[in-house]
Amino acid sequence: MSIADNLKQLLEELPDPVRLVAVSKFHPEASILEAYHAGQRIFGESKVQEMDAKHNHLPQDIEWHFIGHLQTNKVKYIVPYIALIHGIDSFKLLEEVDRQAGKINRTVDCLLQLHIATEETKFGFSFEECREMLAAGGWKQLSHVRLCGLMGMASLTDNAEQIEREFCSLHSFFAEAKQQWFAHSDAFSELSMGMSHDYHPAIEAGSTLVRIGSKIFGERDYSSH
Ligand SMILES: *Cc1c(COP(=O)(O)O)cnc(C)c1O
Repeated sequence: MSIADNLKQLLEELPDPVRLVAVSKFHPEASILEAYHAGQRIFGESKVQEMDAKHNHLPQDIEWHFIGHLQTNKVKYIVPYIALIHGIDSFKLLEEVDRQAGKINRTVDCLLQLHIATEETKFGFSFEECREMLAAGGWKQLSHVRLCGLMGMASLTDNAEQIEREFCSLHSFFAEAKQQWFAHSDAFSELSMGMSHDYHPAIEAGSTLVRIGSKIFGERDYSSH
């Protein structure tokens, strides 16, 4: 099946409020263009250098989402054009995005990443750390970032109940944060969860943004990097 066919089939499965981030990391620009010509506009990348190059070469109406672990020293490269940063995992990083965005008078949309998986390797705040950060209130002074919701990755496991439990825990935390800190923010509305192997349970649990790569583009070729 072609990229356009994969995309079409996938979009038919997504209920109305759920938007698709086509995760194009490690895939060539030709593949992105194929999805672009089939109508896809939101693409997700996880390496700053790779995304920068693609952003420079590809159509300017593409909405680039950064879904990887973002280092503070690289924030300045993506702030001029990034549409959404999914992986804010510390207050320090949020401050740096605010600082760099302020320099060019932009406001950058961000999601807070929560660590919901059992694997140690994944990034993100624990629920408790995130509560403390929100309660501390420093984020309210940052006028060049806009918190638009939360992001999380479930454990890589075949245990469907565990995956469901992890996504549901993120959904409950979203509801808590919304009520306590963002009740008057229309922008705080996104829940980024679900990848190729687990987007069904993610949607069941209330995802609004699914980040899907291999199901659209095929397996990634890491050898060329
Ligand atoms: C790579 C990646 C995805 C997409 O994974 P697939 O299994 O190819 O759908 C989604 N989210 C994040 C954070 C990723 O790094």
